[in-house]
Amino acid sequence: MLNIICNLAGVRNIEKVNFWEFKTLGQMTHAEWESLCDGCGLCCLVKIEDEDSGEIFNTSVSCAQLDIETCRCGNYETRLNNVEMCLQLTIENLPLLKWLPESCAYKRLFNGKNLPQWHPLITGTKDTVHDTGLTAKWFAQSEEFIHPDQLTDFVLSDNK
Ligand code: SF4
Ligand code: SF4
Repeated sequence: MLNIICNLAGVRNIEKVNFWEFKTLGQMTHAEWESLCDGCGLCCLVKIEDEDSGEIFNTSVSCAQLDIETCRCGNYETRLNNVEMCLQLTIENLPLLKWLPESCAYKRLFNGKNLPQWHPLITGTKDTVHDTGLTAKWFAQSEEFIHPDQLTDFVLSDNK
């Protein structure tokens, strides 16, 4: 009996720490959901849609609100009111956003994968996401300096 009690206590403890391994995306609290974002900034790249096919292409141009050095939004709380291209990532639209990078924590969990070992929730530091090279920090340039007519020159050939 004592063993059973200990086991249950242990499970609760693990669940609290590694919530993403025990909860579905739909079961997570708002804070847990938000903490899943690894801060790669790749979803903040300006996208171009092919009018004929509807296909969406990422560019190496980032939203003007993105701090490229940290890959953090400079206007996170009010972004949805102020930035036309910005959207709220939800369980409902997640499967529709094909342009999200394969490394995106939300996409990974939705597709039944675990978080990668470099994820900040596992390493305890936000720096590790940049160490992978899979962040906008290493190549993005702000849309502040790019004319909209030039965007096609910055289409990425691969899905970062
Ligand atoms: S692509 Fe995913 S993990 Fe990266 S910043 Fe966007 S929401 Fe966060
Ligand atoms: S407003 Fe912020 S969260 Fe939205 S696309 Fe721009 S940088 Fe990203």
